[in-house]
Amino acid sequence: MTRTRRQLLGLGIASFLGSLVTGTASGTAQTAGRDLSGRRVIVVGAGLAGLAAAQDLRASGAEVVVFEAGSRVGGRIRTDRSMGVPVEHGAAWIHGPGGGNPISELARSQGAPRFETDDNSLQVFDAAGNELGDAAYARLERMYDGLAYGIETTTAANDPRSLHRAMADLDPDLVDTPLGRWMLSAYFEFDLGADLRQVSAANAFEGNGFAGNDVILPAGYDRLLAPFMAGLDIRLNTPVRRISYAPSGANVDGMAADFVVCAVPLGVMKSGAITFDPPLPAPLRDAVAQIGFGTVTKIALKFDKPFWPTDTQYFGMMTQPQGRWNYWLNYRRFSDHNILLGFSFGSYAAQADRMRPSEMTHDALKVLRSVWGTAVAHPTQVLTTHWSQDPHFKGAYSFPQTGGTIAQFDRFAQPVAGRLFMAGEHTLFDHHGTTHGALLSGRRAARAIAQA
Ligand SMILES: Cc1cc2nc3c(=O)[nH]c(=O)nc-3n(C[C@H](O)[C@H](O)[C@H](O)COP(=O)(O)OP(=O)(O)OC[C@H]3O[C@@H](n4cnc5c(N)ncnc54)[C@H](O)[C@@H]3O)c2cc1C
Repeated sequence: MTRTRRQLLGLGIASFLGSLVTGTASGTAQTAGRDLSGRRVIVVGAGLAGLAAAQDLRASGAEVVVFEAGSRVGGRIRTDRSMGVPVEHGAAWIHGPGGGNPISELARSQGAPRFETDDNSLQVFDAAGNELGDAAYARLERMYDGLAYGIETTTAANDPRSLHRAMADLDPDLVDTPLGRWMLSAYFEFDLGADLRQVSAANAFEGNGFAGNDVILPAGYDRLLAPFMAGLDIRLNTPVRRISYAPSGANVDGMAADFVVCAVPLGVMKSGAITFDPPLPAPLRDAVAQIGFGTVTKIALKFDKPFWPTDTQYFGMMTQPQGRWNYWLNYRRFSDHNILLGFSFGSYAAQADRMRPSEMTHDALKVLRSVWGTAVAHPTQVLTTHWSQDPHFKGAYSFPQTGGTIAQFDRFAQPVAGRLFMAGEHTLFDHHGTTHGALLSGRRAARAIAQA
């Protein structure tokens, strides 16, 4: 019914803003610079950013030690196979898999099968469980189409408004009607990973992403990690508490190093779990405080048999409160498994993250029953995510928050005292909140060290 979310976010609005959607970095590792033999680098965090940095530094001859707080590598790439098919706790799509996207290149080089999820294959239901009629679908499309031009023409670069406010000013229907609220949540709160009241209207749609329709990796996102782990000294269950740095060298919890790459999630930076000695420079502390970090909650429900139309890719439910299990991915489109994967967004996601799995299941089933009634059996298996409750993450991904600036994301690219280097999806604006952003940031940190 509607155009691809990322088409609007990436192409529609960005093109109105006069930006070209092009790749800016190659998919190949580049650590041109001096030989790092005899140098020790400690990498903190074994997500994609940390692993990419570590692998490139190892290739440059450095002795690399990776400290990871959790019991596994991959961070927000976490694939579960207990349902008989890969189910992603975290990253699921390659966003903008077109030219230049290094994740896409990686997947291609590994021969990983991909499946293009069709955003146009969508059925939306109102609160009474009735599917939208043709007129409502047409209205949805009109609202959606009007947004690109509307936000571009009514939002100045220094606009202090939230995206929610700007959209309400643009078209009250967007925030005052169940249909408008559903669209804002299922499309925009999903992509931005936050309540739109917290998102900066001026910065929400800035930046250059990669082009192309989103694809998932049916064999599992975690398969992409294998080449990054080879030969690395990774110390699991080792949460870092203190990073000291000076022009003469660095130290991580008692281990000396020439350089440190800090690749922990922004949520962990905000929590103060790691003490920096001396404290980070003020602009970086401001960036940590003023870049937003939201959450998205998923629940995968497996059933004996389908009670839903198996040839539809997505189902939308106009639930209350906003954000509550309002978007569902149908696994039958790309597997034989009777799985529906539900999402909660915005403020409701923070609430859902705090639910016990049984409570979350009950909550999500109520939404499904509002459409398919007693045909909805009890699931045979359930998988729930709780990203904001996990002390090693504290949320899902970064977003441009009201009061913050774009420059604050990119400020992380600058080395601190020539010894401490930041990486992670939150450290480069153009690709924040994505796996390719994480990968590019790790490679950037490795290049910066090699050139230091
Ligand atoms: C629900 C969800 C859905 C998503 N969907 C997509 C998607 O479809 N497509 C996409 O491109 N992106 C998606 N993302 C975003 C993507 O997963 C992330 O941007 C990316 O994986 C982040 O990688 P990273 O290396 O920056 O951080 P992480 O992967 O978070 O790695 C950081 C690591 O640091 C570790 N750590 C934390 N504290 C410490 C400490 N004190 N000491 C040592 N280690 C520590 C953590 O355990 C973690 O392993 C999604 C994320 C979530 C949560």
